[in-house]
Amino acid sequence: MAKVSVGLRGWRFDEDEIITENGELKPLEEIPEEPRERLVRLVALVEEPCDACYLEHGEDEIHRCNQAEIVYGEPRGEVLLCPAHEPDFVYWFREAGGSEHAGTIEFGDRFHEWVAAGNEAPDGYAAIEHIDEDPDALPDLPDQQEIQRRVEEGFEGDRIDIRELAGEGSADERVNDPDDEPVSETDLQDAGVDLSTEYPSDR
Ligand SMILES: [Zn+2]
Repeated sequence: MAKVSVGLRGWRFDEDEIITENGELKPLEEIPEEPRERLVRLVALVEEPCDACYLEHGEDEIHRCNQAEIVYGEPRGEVLLCPAHEPDFVYWFREAGGSEHAGTIEFGDRFHEWVAAGNEAPDGYAAIEHIDEDPDALPDLPDQQEIQRRVEEGFEGDRIDIRELAGEGSADERVNDPDDEPVSETDLQDAGVDLSTEYPSDR
């Protein structure tokens, strides 16, 4: 059975469990509970910063953090990483006792403590060889509203609060896309639209 990642590298899903024959995400009620929980959790994680970057720079300098591309661990006990910090995680997991916490909700906390104590992988420590997997080529997650809609559709009378599952506030904290700005005169001029052109006025 083929394994796929969605949104972030790291967590692997059985393709048959989450993707339809048409290559789309299955309705949530058709996805088994465990992968469904991770999938819903991913929606809250895809735009978060790398944990190790965050520990280094903090909230005040959050703009210096790389966006996470990789997720390991259990939902709500996960570790988020950028490629530059992945070797630290792999070193912790393999050489510094991290694997003892595998499968536990404390997994993420233990790694964060190790990083916060100033530990890191020795220079030149290589990360795992990945099955060649380009994060940009991973299937996109539907956005949070879309998953919320699907959850409500599929679970009448047993409503799941997606924000509860996904952590709070991630949708509201999204940085506004600069492309959403109203088109200005300068933009039009940059785009080659000449505002001084006289148009025929015989309409
Ligand atoms: Zn990082």
